[in-house]
This record gives sequence, structure tokens and C-alpha cells, in this order.
Amino acid sequence: MKRGLIQIYTGDGKGKTTAAFGIALRAAGRGLRVQIYQFLKGGSPPSGEVLALDNCGLPIRWRRFDDQIPPMFRKGGGGEEELRRSLRKALEEVREGVLGGQTDLVILDEINVALAQGWLPVESVLEFLQECPEGVEVVLTGRGAPECLLERAHLVTEMRCIKHPFDQGVPARRGIEF
Ligand code: ATP
Ligand code: MG
Repeated sequence: MKRGLIQIYTGDGKGKTTAAFGIALRAAGRGLRVQIYQFLKGGSPPSGEVLALDNCGLPIRWRRFDDQIPPMFRKGGGGEEELRRSLRKALEEVREGVLGGQTDLVILDEINVALAQGWLPVESVLEFLQECPEGVEVVLTGRGAPECLLERAHLVTEMRCIKHPFDQGVPARRGIEF
């Protein structure tokens, strides 16, 4: 069986999630089976990229965890304990989804943020990577990927922000940013 590698897209520049979805599209085009899990994106409606998946008939399964709202986006903050619990449960769901043996590529979108914030122990992700069937390619996205994960990966790209229209007062645009 071909060996799957570990890829990380991190950094403060735009393009991490869109890079991961680009890989998913390419993989599906070659008949590979893809699973996408979006962490920490609860509290906002699904983005264009997953809406497109629902309309395209490709072998890409996606899942969002609606209760995963980071404290900074919660009215009054708080809820960290529930968030930690939800993240651990979500990782367990990923494990079950991937260990079933029906996947060639798995994308864990924004999981690095959960690790960087200490909401999910990095050991649990390292353990998952250890257990992953050999042929599965794993892509992890999000700002602040921890050093030990970078060491474990085969491919690491840091998106570095040189300019972003947000800093010039342009709010997030439908279809471009979400
Ligand atoms: P994208 O989803 O466009 O590929 P991303 O995954 O690299 O971006 P995140 O760090 O996940 O970016 O940021 C979440 C949101 O903020 C996205 O809508 C993204 O387009 C936007 N964004 C990305 N980088 C920046 C930046 N440097 N300044 C402001 N907004 C940004
Ligand atoms: Mg992203």
C-alpha cells in the first residue's frame, strides 16, 4: 500500500483552508475517498466550500461541529470546558471515521488552532497520527501549529501574511473569505 504523508498548513496568511480544499478536489478527481472535518467553525453558517461539496456529487464526506464556538466568538465568553469536551469527542469521531478503512485523505481543518489554544491536547492528535492506517494522507490546517506536530509532519507550509484587505478595512467577502 502507498504510504500516506502528513501535511500541515499554518501561519497567519490567507490560504490554509482553501489549500486543503484544493487538495481534496484534486484527490477526488483521481477517485480517492476524502473526509473533511471542520473544527471550531460552529456559530457561523457553513462556508461556500462545503456548500459546493453538497452540490457536486464528489466522493467527499464533510462534517462540522456546530457546538464548537471559540470563547472569543461567544457572547460573554466562557464555555471552554464544553468546547474541550466537544473537541475530544470530535477527534474520536475522526478516529472512527478513518480507522474504518474507507479513506484515502482526511482533512482536519482548523485543528491546529485547538492545539495552539490548549483546548485539545497535542498528544491526542499525535496518537491519532500514530494509529492512522498507513495509506491515509492527513492534512491539518490552522494558525499556530505546535512545534512537535511540525516535527512529525512530512510537509509544512507556513502561509505568511504580507497584505490582507481586512487590514485596509475590507470586511470578509461572501464567496471569497467564506
Ligand atoms: P482561507 O479560508 O481563506 O483559506 P485561512 O484558512 O488561511 O483562509 P484562517 O486563519 O482560517 O484563514 O482565518 C479565517 C478567516 O479569516 C477566513 O475567512 C480567511 O479568509 C480570513 N483570513 C485569513 N488570513 C487573514 C488575515 N491575515 N487577516 C484577516 N483575515 C484573514
Ligand atoms: Mg482556515
